[in-house]
Amino acid sequence: MASYKFLSQVHLILITILIIVTLLTPITTNTSPQPWNILSRNDFAGKLTTASSSVESAAIDFGHVTKIFPSAVLNPSSVEDITDLIKLSYDSQSSFPLAARGHGHSHRGQASAKDGVVVNMRSMVNRDRGIKVSRTGLYVDVDAAWLWIEVLNKTLELGLTPVSWTDYLYLTVGGTLSNGGISGQTFRYGPQIANVLEMDVITGKGEIATCSKDINSDLFFAVLGGLGQFGILTRARIKLEVAPKRAKWLRFLYIDFSEFTRDQERLISKTDGVDFLEGSVMVDHGPPDNWRSTYYPPSDHLRIASMVKRHRVIYCLEVVKYYDETSQYTVNEEMEELSESLNYVRGFMYEKDVTYMDFLNRVRTGELNLKSKGQWDVPHPWLNLFVPKSQISKFDDGVFKGIILRNNITTGPVLVYPMNRNKWNDRMSAAIPEEDVFYAVGFLRSAGFDNWEAYDQENMEILKFCEDGNMGVIQYLPYHSSQEGWVRHFGPRWDIFVKRKYKYDPKMILSPGQNIFQ
Ligand code: FAD
Repeated sequence: MASYKFLSQVHLILITILIIVTLLTPITTNTSPQPWNILSRNDFAGKLTTASSSVESAAIDFGHVTKIFPSAVLNPSSVEDITDLIKLSYDSQSSFPLAARGHGHSHRGQASAKDGVVVNMRSMVNRDRGIKVSRTGLYVDVDAAWLWIEVLNKTLELGLTPVSWTDYLYLTVGGTLSNGGISGQTFRYGPQIANVLEMDVITGKGEIATCSKDINSDLFFAVLGGLGQFGILTRARIKLEVAPKRAKWLRFLYIDFSEFTRDQERLISKTDGVDFLEGSVMVDHGPPDNWRSTYYPPSDHLRIASMVKRHRVIYCLEVVKYYDETSQYTVNEEMEELSESLNYVRGFMYEKDVTYMDFLNRVRTGELNLKSKGQWDVPHPWLNLFVPKSQISKFDDGVFKGIILRNNITTGPVLVYPMNRNKWNDRMSAAIPEEDVFYAVGFLRSAGFDNWEAYDQENMEILKFCEDGNMGVIQYLPYHSSQEGWVRHFGPRWDIFVKRKYKYDPKMILSPGQNIFQ
């Protein structure tokens, strides 16, 4: 009996020790995978928060189809705050993931960091500094957290402007440079990533580097279109030109796709032609219901709607010529000549004359309108593609006139416009088709919280059509659920992408929401 008593006492002591050790383990050791254990020792002077409102808003993005919770959000006020955070993760045995969040306008959780830290880049914006224009150098140095609209406002004060844009300007410099930044100017000036002269980047090791095509050039090209994988961009130097004053903005409607693309391709082959070129598709799903429908005079809505009804799919070519005092007398003549040379349906030409700012900021009106109706913060199952020129007619038959008409669910703008490959640079990370000319095709859908999956299903159908047809189509603003998808996405450039990841972010800390290396 005595020995049993002794044994149970030993057991009791052992169990007590075990409980104490278990309780103390997460506090006293560094091996827990939860970042908060490491971070709680340094709250970055109150800039690191786990408040549910911050964590909740970092979990969602413009897409509203994912909800990916970080453990904490850092609101940095200096580059050092970000460097310290990255170093903390890099130096730890159990590093935690972290993602820069620009304006959260991704559509599929690309700026998220599951159980890690989201770095809210917008908290870096300081109205007194952060944008410095050099008139003589014709460039602007801008903190990556600034929105393009803010950059434009500043540079216009000095009569200057960046030359390559996105359609919507409430996106951060860091966010669009991580993707590409495309719009109707890309055919002429290249994407935004082709208009950067220099950057400051904090790598996944917590090292700060200034890079350009001559200094640390591998890092420079890696970061451009690098989907946030190689470093957090804190400053970019963007090329500027003298800003024009106004924009002649013309739209032409087509019923024949080959006439439409032939005209588009001819216009983008000219170096001294239009300053902006895009195109869109209008499908027989009711009246033109996209953001830009306000473009057409209300008196013509019925006429256009009946043309859409009759032909089921029609196309709209959109071009702009900028002008100022020196060219105001010739611009009308030039645009008249241009319209005569086009094969649109006569009688369906529309013209506007707006300020340069109003043209670049054209999507804002639509945004405010949708916001006022509660239709902005809704799911956006978007699909953006680059389609090689040789495949665009097959795409029209199979997708616009096939899948889209058959399913009859598409709403919102469908963009289609060509760009020239020689305005891109193969050393940049962005993946693009091999052909000299390729098209950007964007299905910019808005959906309900209860039906967005049907749109997503259609996206998958479109992707499958392209894959089955071996069409060489590449996603822009890509989303792939598996690494095989990413290997196919980058094709021959996958090896260099991986090599660069090991070089600049060997612990795979950065931008886990892209789902490439996790
Ligand atoms: P976020 O969504 O916050 O981040 C995007 C990615 O970049 C994430 O992986 C993030 O981790 C990373 N990142 C963000 N900041 C940094 C940084 N400083 N350093 C390193 N990585 C960083 N795109 C076009 O090209 N053309 C268009 O015309 C266009 N129009 C759009 C219109 C609307 C209404 C919306 C919502 C999006 C549009 N986009 C367009 C897409 C847009 O360019 C991308 O979604 C872009 O990523 C959004 O920028 P953001 O600042 O919100 O970045």
